Amino acid sequence: MNYAPFFFKLDALPCLIVGGGSVALAKAGTLLGCGARLHVAAETILPELQAMLERNGGSFALGGYDSAMLDGVRIVVAATDDRALNSRIRDDARLRNIPVNVVDDPELCDFIFPAIVQRGDIQIAISTAGVSPTLARYLKRRIEQVLPWNLDQLSDWLKVKRREISKRLGHLQTRRLFWDEVIEGPIAQEVLEGNNAKADALLAQALADHDPMPRAALYLIGAGPGHPDLITVRGAQLLAQADIVLYDRLIPPDVLTRYARRDALKISVGKSANRYGMTQPQIDALIAEHLAANRIVVRLKGGDPGIYAHAVEELEIARRLDVPWQIVPGITAAAGCAAAAGIPLTERSGANGVRFLTLYDEKLHDQAFWQSLALNTKDTLVFYMTTRQRALLCRKLLEAGFNSATPLLIVEQGTTPGHAEYEATIESFAARYGDHAFMTPALIIVGDVVRWRARYGWKEPPQQRRVWFGEMKEDRELIQD
Ligand code: SAH
Repeated sequence: MNYAPFFFKLDALPCLIVGGGSVALAKAGTLLGCGARLHVAAETILPELQAMLERNGGSFALGGYDSAMLDGVRIVVAATDDRALNSRIRDDARLRNIPVNVVDDPELCDFIFPAIVQRGDIQIAISTAGVSPTLARYLKRRIEQVLPWNLDQLSDWLKVKRREISKRLGHLQTRRLFWDEVIEGPIAQEVLEGNNAKADALLAQALADHDPMPRAALYLIGAGPGHPDLITVRGAQLLAQADIVLYDRLIPPDVLTRYARRDALKISVGKSANRYGMTQPQIDALIAEHLAANRIVVRLKGGDPGIYAHAVEELEIARRLDVPWQIVPGITAAAGCAAAAGIPLTERSGANGVRFLTLYDEKLHDQAFWQSLALNTKDTLVFYMTTRQRALLCRKLLEAGFNSATPLLIVEQGTTPGHAEYEATIESFAARYGDHAFMTPALIIVGDVVRWRARYGWKEPPQQRRVWFGEMKEDRELIQD
């Protein structure tokens, strides 16, 4: 059975619900929310429903159902828990040509209540023709995820700008193309972030002498620690906008196929200590080149784009070229690895704080650095890019006065299917794991919190070692200019 999808204006129309329980309550909420003049007839009525009716100018009567109640009514909902009664209400309504909804009985319904995704005035209604409300709710959740939470902010902004643009761009087709570009490009993204001044400026720029739409934008997006589901909703939304994606070696393989456009140009710019990759100046030059060509560039980075990720160099390019930019945070490796290992990084009775550190160049760390760590041996220490210096790290911590029983954990390929953990104390670690070659990326967590792992660890060790972050195939497709 197919239903015709309509949005029906209920403003002040008389509607009737028979029944006063929780189902009636939900339907009453919908009808009153659309401005219906609602009457409820029921043997008993939930106090919440009664209060809702009082607040919204509705009315109710306690007692049995009588077909005379249908007089003058435009829509009826039969929401009693008595099937025979619901069926009678439906027959009476049919005789009077009043559309009726019978709850939980799609066969008897003239109309059904869809699942709704709402953003202000924007509503998306989902129907499975009454077959499966669970499926409808699932679809609703999926749609909720892909739509910006504040889409109404964009529609409010569009409402204001519409008239202004209509005056400037008389031709219908020109106007349509213009709006497509606005809604699908950086201007809408600035509005969604509440950066209205920036959005207005970009719009004015687009209108001036019919310049081509400014499409250039740089989005620094954190893809999270490696599990494909651990990118943020916002990250996925902006990744879908990219004309060009410059991605790191630490990007989960699925993320690009799942979220980036198929025709987006995807370039691996992976740098690593022991493999050939692009240098930072080469990456910077690529970003500049594509921004100058008026493209949306996404710089997709592992973890969080603000942690050991050259954010400043790259942001500076956008600033210099005067194109909009945004930074989308990601779950940094420290947070991801700790969670996957069952470790809280701070803990009320123990670690008060956590420090993100690195030792990748030991010359950068003098005596004062080690002493500063020893000042508060309670803080959790997380070392990025340091597994190869682990022996030095343990020695320096011991020299600086750390308790030799302080636990140290190495997590390799944290959160991914290749996730593995190696624990010892700062005194025993070097001897225990010797010159074991840890797979990259790997991270070191030092501190008493590591002990929680024994109690709250929840990931089984992998059946066999497995490389998750392989060198990814370069996917250079020509883009259409
Ligand atoms: N911006 C990233 C860090 C980049 S530096 C973030 O916020 O996580 C790269 C280092 O991050 C690696 O050498 C390793 O120490 C750490 N790292 C990143 N992903 C990791 C993972 N899945 N498991 C373990 N360590 C990881």
